[in-house]
Amino acid sequence: MKEVIRRRVGIEYGAPPLKAGKEELRRRNTLLLLALVQSDGPSSQADLARRSGLSPATVSGILQPLIESRILIEEGKSTSGLGRRASILAFNSRANLTAGISIDLEEVEVALVDLSGRVLDQTATRYPRYTEPNEVVTLAAEGLALLEKRNSLDRSSIAGAGVAIPGLINSATGVVQVASNLGWMNVQLRDLFEQRLGVSARVEHLGRAKARAEAIWGKGKNHRNFVCLEIGSGIGAGVVVHGRILRGAGGIGGEVGHMPIDPAGPTCACGFKGCWEVFCSGPAIRRNLARRLEGADDSRGALSPIATLGDLEAAYQQGNAIAVEVVEEAADYLVRGLVGVIWSFDPEFVLLTGPVVNQCPSLVEAAKRRMGAMQGNARSFDVPLILESHHAGTGVVAASAAIATRYLEELAFNGIPKQNHVLTA
Ligand SMILES: [Zn+2]
Repeated sequence: MKEVIRRRVGIEYGAPPLKAGKEELRRRNTLLLLALVQSDGPSSQADLARRSGLSPATVSGILQPLIESRILIEEGKSTSGLGRRASILAFNSRANLTAGISIDLEEVEVALVDLSGRVLDQTATRYPRYTEPNEVVTLAAEGLALLEKRNSLDRSSIAGAGVAIPGLINSATGVVQVASNLGWMNVQLRDLFEQRLGVSARVEHLGRAKARAEAIWGKGKNHRNFVCLEIGSGIGAGVVVHGRILRGAGGIGGEVGHMPIDPAGPTCACGFKGCWEVFCSGPAIRRNLARRLEGADDSRGALSPIATLGDLEAAYQQGNAIAVEVVEEAADYLVRGLVGVIWSFDPEFVLLTGPVVNQCPSLVEAAKRRMGAMQGNARSFDVPLILESHHAGTGVVAASAAIATRYLEELAFNGIPKQNHVLTA
């Protein structure tokens, strides 16, 4: 088996069995070619042969049925080269759609996302914090029904629902073990969604969902070792190691927000003291700000105890002393945890995502300055901190990525469905 195959589709499949049969080989090659067209965009057959390392005859034999069933569509002719101009093949991203559902503390977002991660339409519904899972699933189902109606679609055009949620999630079983910030514990969320929506669902930890979306559509393309760090109501990571998303024995690998940073720190929702996320998650930074504002009349400026992270950022930019202290302290803790992450996983880069990163860019800058100043250690900490992709970094797109990947796997491993819901773009 060629190395290139492991490199491109390794996120779902490890090294193939040493004695892969002919049929197994064909399936894996099909998956490789589909993944190449899906993530790298339209290509000619010759191009695909070159990039996959497969022979032109093998590529042609695999692609022909996919073209006939309009899973791959012709998108013009190549302009270079002599002789007959080759067809450029594109993935038919609307051969099916996915529902991307992102659950946060007080809001559920639902989107129709195509198989290339493009959002066709989306909606969001707010609810009070600690709303029951059943209720949130109902709100998401209503959101999806609204989107279908608005776009004259029915449920048969939805290949599945991807659900992204912060917390300890076992995506193999679909169980939310603990989502402490939502107040949920041991919830079989996948079953709730499947019963309510009537399509298959996949529940994933938000950080891991983002890592997958970045790997197929964003800044993680063609990289085999990186960490996607989500900083919002808590801190969680999607860790990509050797091209695969780390899950661990219990399916909760990457829950770095509960790394102990300071035993004298405040108690975390998980029960331990001084976890990383009690120092630099969104609520932690706002708590710290409110505490410092108490009895600090002179230096408050425009800041109030209910200031948002956006207000904090604006005050920092204006040189407000309290804002500077709060941001710099959060950056200290952010870097402390990042050092642990870098020692543990040795990533090529760390992608920073989530509301804290988006609303408070000065925190990222302060963290970068600290990392840059760390010289003379046993290892260098010149691991780039980069911001999430504009597109793949959104919760709904991240949620849908698992369904888009599974769609390709099903095509490759189960064959082309008899009833293919081809939509006109
Ligand atoms: Zn904790």
